Amino acid sequence: MSAPVTAATLTHEIAVEDPSTEETIARVPRGTAEDVDRAVAAARVGARRTRTIAPADRGRLLRALAAAVDAEREELARLETRDTGKPLSLARGEVAGCVGYLDYYAGAADKLHGETIPLGPGSLAWTVREPVGVTAHIVPWNAPLSMLCRSVAPALAAGNTAVVKPAEQTPLTALRFAELAREAGLPEHAVTVVAGLGAEAGHALAGHPCIGSLTFTGSVATGRAVLRAAAEHVTPVVTELGGKSPQIVFADADLDDVAAQVVTGVTANSGQYCDAGSRLLVERGVHDELVARVVARTAALTLGPGIDDPDLGPLVSAEHHRRVSSYVALGQAEGAVVADGPRAVPDRGHFLAPVTFTGVTPEMRIAREEIFGPVLVAMPFDDEEQALALANGTDYGLGVGIHTRDVDRALRVAGQVEAGYVMINEYFAGGPSVPFGGTKLSGTGRERGLVALDGYLRDKTVVARVGPR
Ligand code: NAD
Repeated sequence: MSAPVTAATLTHEIAVEDPSTEETIARVPRGTAEDVDRAVAAARVGARRTRTIAPADRGRLLRALAAAVDAEREELARLETRDTGKPLSLARGEVAGCVGYLDYYAGAADKLHGETIPLGPGSLAWTVREPVGVTAHIVPWNAPLSMLCRSVAPALAAGNTAVVKPAEQTPLTALRFAELAREAGLPEHAVTVVAGLGAEAGHALAGHPCIGSLTFTGSVATGRAVLRAAAEHVTPVVTELGGKSPQIVFADADLDDVAAQVVTGVTANSGQYCDAGSRLLVERGVHDELVARVVARTAALTLGPGIDDPDLGPLVSAEHHRRVSSYVALGQAEGAVVADGPRAVPDRGHFLAPVTFTGVTPEMRIAREEIFGPVLVAMPFDDEEQALALANGTDYGLGVGIHTRDVDRALRVAGQVEAGYVMINEYFAGGPSVPFGGTKLSGTGRERGLVALDGYLRDKTVVARVGPR
């Protein structure tokens, strides 16, 4: 029988809610700075052990972990759906993506070598790519296991151990992942999860003196706090922050196909993706027609508990629902017009009907700030130059969608947008092998692809005299 839950024990726990029903589905420990200390100390021991594993064996272990996640994919997807509210199909896709990250980086584990630099007779220099030791990962709630695997898989492939601080709203799949890592045969403390609050466990991890690298995925405001804390020990940080990504549509595009992509781009995961296509920039001649198609498609989307696999689940929490709703009210106060008809949402759960704003000007806050909900702002443009000015007119630079049949134009615009990730005629295109990241306030560093491994390795140069002096 488990110990009775008292007010005293509750202060050391976090209640985890199903946002579709508002019911508490679990309680997890609320990790303290001391817990983080213990986790990092254990991960340091683990890192020493991990360095003795041959790279090819490390790859095999990661492949075993990929197989373990794959074998439990349905359970993990259901757990993710209950924790986040996201539609089950989306959670299934994200878990499949996790297997993809683990498989991809498993293949890289034994291919991380340096270079030799000839210095002429009698001397040789070479570089060695060494693991950084303990890597820290502070993860958001919007795609919890996917964001975890995106950074933990390359960190492990590079021969490190990982300490993970999941978001307080959604810690459940991270906790199960750490168990799966053990079950798959990874060394003890290869993956350690400390559930807890951002200002407590997160802050302690970001400022910890014994971590070799930190990967932070989350909001700009928290990113700044994390960078400040990491600066104390000059810890290298990969930041993956927010966005206000535009979808640029030229008049020659296939409007029906684009309408479907625009709707998916802003409503997938209820708009809670960093690269949600939340700004629709449309060539004026087709603006009204495209908006009408977008509104019609949006009206046909189903809303409901994630486990019933609707098109849209709820937002993650009551707090986030208040935030997104306040932007909807702000847009109307700023003079923008809601193009959608009224629609009912379920009584229970943090549901919000998608909103399409027209009559938006670039100065409006709804056109510049990340809302992180199913809220689209549409703006017309007259020519390519104006499209680029609008696209580049925010502080963010994460994703950009370009829709046109004109290849020259697509490549020209791709070359001039201030963004880390450009998608031509297919929004959300890519995968584990394709580097992803932002510019401007959307962050530094790259995840996915081989380039991501750089964040988890440090180069050592050795210069040697060879032969007699
Ligand atoms: P958030 O910044 O509130 O929280 C992210 C993580 O940081 C959580 O684990 C939280 O507990 C922790 N945290 C909070 N305060 C902290 C502190 N002072 N020190 C250390 N850690 C702290 O972000 P969120 O609301 O969970 O996620 C949404 C944001 O994440 C959006 O802005 C979204 O665009 C961004 N995001 C970016 C990417 C990307 O790849 N660029 C991917 C997913 C989400």
